[in-house]
Amino acid sequence: MARTYNWQIQREMSYWYPESRPQRQFAAVFDINKCIACQTCTLACKTTWTSGKGQEYMLWNNVESKPYGFYPLAWDLKLLKLLGPQEWHGEVYAGRTLFEAAPAGTRVLGWRPDDQDYAYPNVGEDDCAGVIEKGASFDIPHLAWFFYLARICNHCTYPACLASCPRGSIYKRKEDGIVLVDQSRCRGYRECVQACPYKKTFFNPLTGTSEKCIACFPKFEQGLQPQCFANCIGKIRLAGWISKPEQASPDNPIDYLVHIRKVALPLFPQFGLEPNVYYVPPIHAARPFLHQMFGPQVEQAIETYRRAPDDPDLAGLLGLFGCTERVVPRWLREKDWVVGAAEDGTELVRVPLKEPVYIRAAFDTQYQVARVNCP
Ligand code: SF4
Ligand code: SF4
Repeated sequence: MARTYNWQIQREMSYWYPESRPQRQFAAVFDINKCIACQTCTLACKTTWTSGKGQEYMLWNNVESKPYGFYPLAWDLKLLKLLGPQEWHGEVYAGRTLFEAAPAGTRVLGWRPDDQDYAYPNVGEDDCAGVIEKGASFDIPHLAWFFYLARICNHCTYPACLASCPRGSIYKRKEDGIVLVDQSRCRGYRECVQACPYKKTFFNPLTGTSEKCIACFPKFEQGLQPQCFANCIGKIRLAGWISKPEQASPDNPIDYLVHIRKVALPLFPQFGLEPNVYYVPPIHAARPFLHQMFGPQVEQAIETYRRAPDDPDLAGLLGLFGCTERVVPRWLREKDWVVGAAEDGTELVRVPLKEPVYIRAAFDTQYQVARVNCP
C-alpha cells in the first residue's frame, strides 16, 4: 500500500498504487434539485452502449429515488454497514476508508451483488421517508421527503475497481482521467464488481469480461458532453474538467462550483476514492441523511444554493447546465448574460441570466384564435 493524499477527506490515506493524477481529470456536476427521474439519461446510455447480448441488466447510468431506491439492491446500505462508524472531525475524515478497512489479504472492502440484486432497478421509486398521516396530505413543514439520485461511474482519482484488479486490466487514462477496462486483458474475475462501492462495473456473462461507463470518451475527445448529459431533460448536468483545490480557477465552471463556491459535493467521500461526479445536494431532505451521503459540507452547500437567486454569478452558471452539447471549459458573466467558452476564449454559447417570459393575449385578434398561456 502507498500513502496518497485525498483532498475530499483532507488527509493522507492508503491506496494500492502511488498517487498518479492524470494531466486533466474528467469531472461533472449534477444538480439534484432539478432531476425529475424521467430516466432519459438512463435510456440515452442504454441505447448507445448496453443494448447488446449479456448487457440486458446493465445500467451504466441509473437514477434511483432515495432513501428507498437502489440499483443494485441496497448497494450503499450494505457497504455503510460493512464499513462501520464514519466519523468526521470537522472536514477531516477520522474513520477508515474502504482501502484502509480492507480485510487482510484483500485490497478493498467490498461485496459482490447477486444476480437478483440487479433485477429491480426502480425499487423504491417515489417512496418517501417518514409517514404521511392518513395518507392524504402534507402538513407544512413536513418531514416526508425523497429525491432522485442520478448515478454514473465517478471516474475516481483512486478507483477501487482499478486497485482490485489482479490482472491490471483497468486503467486510468493520463489525458483525461477516464477509467476503462481493457477487454483483451480482462478474464472476468469480478474483483472490480466486488470492489467498486458505487457498483458501476458490470459483469457480462456472454463475453466473460467486466464492462463499465466510458464517459462517452469518443464524444468527449471531440469536445462533446456524454450522451446522458446531452439528453438530460432536467438540464441537471455539466461535464468538464476539475483541478486540484490549490489550482482551482474561477473561470472553470466545475472548479467554481466544487472548489470556490463549494456548492457541489462528492458522493460518499468517506469511501476514499475521490470520486469526480459532484452533486448539488437536495435542499429539502433530512440533514443527517445528506451528511452521511455528501459529507460535512452539506449544510454550507445548501445555504449557498438557497441564496442563488440573489447571486447572479452562481445563478448564471447554473443556467449554463444543459444549454449546449459542447463541453464548456470556461465561463464568464457579462452583466445579464452568461457565456460558455472554449479553452482559448472562443464563445461557444450565450444564455440570458433571466429567461424572458412572453405572456400572449388570451385571444389573438390577428388569427382569431383563443390561446392558453403556459409560461
Ligand atoms: S465509480 Fe467504481 S467503476 Fe467507476 S472508477 Fe470509481 S471504483 Fe471504478
Ligand atoms: S435525464 Fe436528467 S432529469 Fe431525467 S432522470 Fe436523468 S438526470 Fe434526471
